[in-house]
Amino acid sequence: MVQRFDVSERFAEGAQYIDGRFTSGGSGATQAVTDPATGEQVYRYRLADAADVDAAVRAAERAQPEWAAATPAERSDAMHAWAAVLKERTDDFVFAESLQCGKPLKLSEEFDVPGSFDNVSFFAGAARQLPGVAAGEYSGDHTSYVRREPLGVIGSIAPWNYPLQMAAWKVLPAVAAGNTIVLKPSELTPFTSLMFADAARTAGIPDGVINIVTGAGRDAGEALVGHPSVAMTSFTGSTAVGKRIAELATASVKRIHLELGGKAPFVVFDDADLEAAVHGAVAGALINSGQDCTAATRAYVQRPLYEAFVSGVADLMNEVRLGDPFAAGTDLGPLISHQHRDRVAGFVDRARSYATVVVGGEAPGGDLAKGAYYRPTLIADAPQDSEAVQQEIFGPVLTVLPFDSDDEGIRLANDTPYGLAASAWSRDVFRTGRASRDIRAGCVWINDHIPIISEMPHGGYKASGFGKDMSAYSFEEYTQIKHVMYDVTQDARKDWHRTVFGDR
Ligand code: NAD
Repeated sequence: MVQRFDVSERFAEGAQYIDGRFTSGGSGATQAVTDPATGEQVYRYRLADAADVDAAVRAAERAQPEWAAATPAERSDAMHAWAAVLKERTDDFVFAESLQCGKPLKLSEEFDVPGSFDNVSFFAGAARQLPGVAAGEYSGDHTSYVRREPLGVIGSIAPWNYPLQMAAWKVLPAVAAGNTIVLKPSELTPFTSLMFADAARTAGIPDGVINIVTGAGRDAGEALVGHPSVAMTSFTGSTAVGKRIAELATASVKRIHLELGGKAPFVVFDDADLEAAVHGAVAGALINSGQDCTAATRAYVQRPLYEAFVSGVADLMNEVRLGDPFAAGTDLGPLISHQHRDRVAGFVDRARSYATVVVGGEAPGGDLAKGAYYRPTLIADAPQDSEAVQQEIFGPVLTVLPFDSDDEGIRLANDTPYGLAASAWSRDVFRTGRASRDIRAGCVWINDHIPIISEMPHGGYKASGFGKDMSAYSFEEYTQIKHVMYDVTQDARKDWHRTVFGDR
């Protein structure tokens, strides 16, 4: 059982972490953090304003030259020490993540927290091996080599669904590569980002390398994106906000990295292991109460398996135990807020006019009525062009449709604006090989849906954004490449000068 602590005491100084110190935001506005399982306020703090963002960027700017000048081994050692401090504080992270998001303990304990800490260990190692091409005489007269350099100060903005993992995915490749960072977590979920930065300081990572500003998107968020000293904006969140951020960042010619919404298809061919597909669909759709950008949201099932799949998923969804995130035996917690729960319910209620709600479609009563709970929901026969199939619902809701030919299954899978993740289910290596080639998404799972690992990239196609989180590929986002060309001839009159003056 995790040890609870009083978040109001722990964050008594405020929800900003600037230049190695906790501080209060300068905005006149305050924000509540609410336990979504009870609807009760657990903490209230002053939001950051543009002046706080500026102070954080200045701190990051001051810290950057020295951090960039550290050898890769020094940065790596500091990050390994950070990983060790984090591991000692595991229980605190599990508690705080479950409290602010309503995640069942087992999800925080076995997925969010260890996954994020493994990211730290991975990037501690990767810091020593940034990829590049070998130096060489590509022109006979010069030696060329490539320097991989940090960009400077990174401004990152993260969502509420996986606050710790998103902080890790943004902060780690940036600092491993010698940048410093200002991260704005979602104003609903500040705790674990603050604790992540604080643990870095305990481990000896210098003040100013990692700063957290917790403010509203339109206020602190836009100030961070527009700040002239920020070299790059890295954003994870909705496609709508991502478009706004792209506009703002483009105006100041900033590099951008966008990890946006998803609407992952789950394609079941008629030779699939039905039991595996049913279990995979329920786990893939309900993880984190469906508030997962890669969650299975659209099942397409080849006609011979369709009815058995629908009844298997409905039965299994009915067995899933909603409950107090901190109670043993809870499978699924609440959604992030009552407001978001009502948004999810709105999609399902509207779907009743054009589709069949097979199971779920309501908030539970009784002890759970005060929390932002919603029952696992399966919607059958929603037309492909309906909002339930096309738009990101971001709740425990799966749609299911039949298909006939393999071509049709893949066409339907590709038929939304999104392209973050997908899965294909079949025992036939040629079918799965084709699906992995033809489905336009940044990740395609075969006979599974959801697992991620530090060594492999995560990122979208199409309206799901561009750029990669995790893995060595993320260094492409957080570094810039400089070509250095050395003359090796020592000639005062170079051969190529003929093209500008003198005869050939
Ligand atoms: P959101 O887009 O509403 O907010 C994300 C962040 O942006 C928050 O910190 C918010 O304060 C900030 N923000 C809002 N308006 C802003 C503005 N005008 N300028 C600057 N910042 C602004 O998303 P959310 O509701 O917090 O999270 C859910 C979304 O995140 C879903 O769409 C989900 O798919 C997406 N997501 C994507 C990935 C991925 O890897 N692709 C991962 C997790 C979540």
